[in-house]
Amino acid sequence: MTDSRWPDWLPLRKSLAPLSAYGAPQVDAEATLNTNENPFPLSQELVKAIAARLSEVCANLNRYPDRDALELRSKLASYINDQSGTSFSAPEVWVANGSNEIIQSLFLAFGDQGAIGFTPSYSMHPLIARVTSTQWIDGQRRSDYSLDIDDAIKQIVKAAPALTFITTPNNPTGEAISIAEIEKIAQSVPGLLVVDEAYAEFSEEQSAVTLISQYPQIIVIRTMSKAFSFAGARVGYLLAHPSVVEAMMLVRLPYHLSTLTQGAALVALDFKSELLSGVAELRSERDRVAASLREMGLTVLPSQANFLLFTGFQSSSPQLWQAMLDHGILIRDVGLSGYLRTTIGTGAENEKFLHALRECLAKEKS
Ligand SMILES: *Cc1c(COP(=O)(O)O)cnc(C)c1O
Repeated sequence: MTDSRWPDWLPLRKSLAPLSAYGAPQVDAEATLNTNENPFPLSQELVKAIAARLSEVCANLNRYPDRDALELRSKLASYINDQSGTSFSAPEVWVANGSNEIIQSLFLAFGDQGAIGFTPSYSMHPLIARVTSTQWIDGQRRSDYSLDIDDAIKQIVKAAPALTFITTPNNPTGEAISIAEIEKIAQSVPGLLVVDEAYAEFSEEQSAVTLISQYPQIIVIRTMSKAFSFAGARVGYLLAHPSVVEAMMLVRLPYHLSTLTQGAALVALDFKSELLSGVAELRSERDRVAASLREMGLTVLPSQANFLLFTGFQSSSPQLWQAMLDHGILIRDVGLSGYLRTTIGTGAENEKFLHALRECLAKEKS
C-alpha cells in the first residue's frame, strides 16, 4: 500500500514512501541554536576576499569547473597535515557539496553489503542509506548513550556490514571516543570504518586521519560547516586511501562542485586561522553553559563538540522546545524523549538561552 501522503499517480520508489525529509525547522528566532553552526560570521576582510575571487572566476562561468577540484583537494590536504602531522596529498582527499554528499557517495560506492551505525547518532546516516537502497542496521549504545566499544565490535562483527559509521564527537550526544578505541575497532571489524569527524576541531582527541596510513580501511569525513564557519558554502571532504577516492570518482556526478564553491573554499582556507579563531571561545562557552545547566539541576552529557544534550526537565521535549521558541530561542528536539540539544552560540546568545531556560523551568514547577 502507498503511504497516504503520496498521490497514486506518483511512481515513488516503495522504499522511500515511509520516509520523511530532513527537516530541522528554519524559523526566525532571537538565538538560532539548532543546527550546530558556528555563530561567528565571516570578517569583512574575508567577505571582500571571497567576493574578489568570485568576480575573477565569474568571467569563466561559461566553462565547467575543475571536475577533480585538484587545487582545493591539495589545500584541504595541507590543512589536515598542519593540524594532525600527516602527509596527505590530493589523491587521498575527496571534496563535495557538504559531508552529506560525501556520505551519499560512500553508500553509492560501497553499500551493497549494508551499513551499521550506533543510535542515537547523526540522523542523516540512516536516511541517506535508505535513499541509496543501502540496508541500515541500528547498532545499540549503553542506556546513557555512551558507546561500549567491545559491545559495538561484537555487533559489527555479527552484522558484517560493508560500512561501519562511528561519529566522534558524536551528534547529538557530544561524546568523543579515543584514537585507541578507533584503532581497536579498525583492527577487529570487517569492511570499511567511516569516522565522521564533523566536530573534530572542537575535540581534544587525536583525529583518526593519523591512522589511515596504517589502516587503509579507515575513511575520515570532515566538513567546513561547523568549526570553519562555512556552512552556507556547502563544503565537506574525506581523507582515505587513494582507492577509496577513485571509487568516489565513479559515483560523483560530473562537475559536482561548482567553480563558485571551489573558489570560495580556497579563499576560506587562506583565512583558516581567522575562521577557526572562535573555536577556543566556543569550547570554553560550552563548558560554562554545561556548568550552568547542571546548576539548574539538569543532567548534561559530556561534550567535546559545540553543542550539549541535556535532560532532567519535567515537560516533554516538544513542550519545552516550544516554550523555548516562544522565548525566541530555537534549539533542537532530536527525537529522544526527555532530551533536548542546544548549540553553543555567542556569549550573548548563550546568556539568552540560559535566561529563557531558567524561566521555562520555573514555570514547569509552578
Ligand atoms: C552537521 C553534520 C554533518 C553535515 O555536514 P555538512 O558538511 O554540512 O553536510 C555531517 N556529520 C555530522 C555528524 C554532522 O553533525
